[in-house]
Amino acid sequence: MTTDRRKFLQSSLALPVVSGPALAAAETKPATPSAPVRRRIAVEETFATLEFLDAYAKLLDPKDFMTMEKINPLQRKLVEQGPIRLADMDAAGVDMQIMSLYTDTGQLPSNIATGIMQRANDILAQAIHANPTRFGGLIVLMPQNIDDAVKEIARGAKELKLNGTIINSTTHDEYLDDPKYIPIFEALVEHDLTLYLHPADPPKQMIGALRIPGYHTAWGFGVDAGTHAVRIMASGLFDRFPNLRLALGHMGESLPFWIDRMDDHYPAEIGRQNASRLKKKPSEYMRENIYVTTSGMNWWPQLRMTLDVMGADHVLFALDYPFEDDVADTRRVDAMPMPEETKEKFFHRNAERIFKIAPV
Ligand code: MN
Repeated sequence: MTTDRRKFLQSSLALPVVSGPALAAAETKPATPSAPVRRRIAVEETFATLEFLDAYAKLLDPKDFMTMEKINPLQRKLVEQGPIRLADMDAAGVDMQIMSLYTDTGQLPSNIATGIMQRANDILAQAIHANPTRFGGLIVLMPQNIDDAVKEIARGAKELKLNGTIINSTTHDEYLDDPKYIPIFEALVEHDLTLYLHPADPPKQMIGALRIPGYHTAWGFGVDAGTHAVRIMASGLFDRFPNLRLALGHMGESLPFWIDRMDDHYPAEIGRQNASRLKKKPSEYMRENIYVTTSGMNWWPQLRMTLDVMGADHVLFALDYPFEDDVADTRRVDAMPMPEETKEKFFHRNAERIFKIAPV
């Protein structure tokens, strides 16, 4: 990592701040109050281990270290999976959090990644064991060591009984469409686990263009994660693994907005480049293999459009705890004029299906 990049990360990225009031002018007011929702499952809710925060601090500055005494209030929420988190969930009306490890895990050196990955998944499983009706979790994968990640998928599914998997975008600046990662996708399909592709700091080939102060986490992370998803779609992985499920946060990292234009341009562009054509249109992969969550973007104009283009079976509720105002966001979503059946799918039924959570 360059010194320049380190400085930028330390100043702007170390931890995002809780957002202020979101754009409200264009919100549609419901004509009638909605019926109460039976269950709210939030599916992109973050935790951290002290060991990971310490390793990440050392990545930015080799002399740095992290202890419980040094962590800031937001980091304290990340490393806690007990009463503070449960009280925050109760305040927002969240029945269950699906937790996943905070982030930039793909930058860790290969020689320490596997141990940090395994211990983070152990801590996650313990937190779920202590509160099985309130917590679920995604197996964090660190593909720095592909064989270890493949083994961790099996261990996470069989022994830890976790609900899915998560990879935080690029690994040492590489995207998952590199054929060397195919064993990971084989294992995901074998164990019938959803892969949540979460944003992280963009890779070195993108970081220069996306290092925009004030826009780095909202735009830069989204552009990188959306690009990553398009690369997976374009690589033919969904033709090879038709049952593969890919979840994207942040309202699909902008893909639903581009769906029609991607369909329009794909055939002609593939023809001009004499490239091999995939079996399906971009929109078909999106509606069949991709699931979109609302983490950090619970705004009705976008959600309405995303429900329209993705279908009600492919859009899920998420808050991005602890980086947003969960109480305000949940209230906003509660007030949105969704049909009753759509709302039940959005808040819990889709999560129960793709993350294997027992219905209540
Ligand atoms: Mn997140």
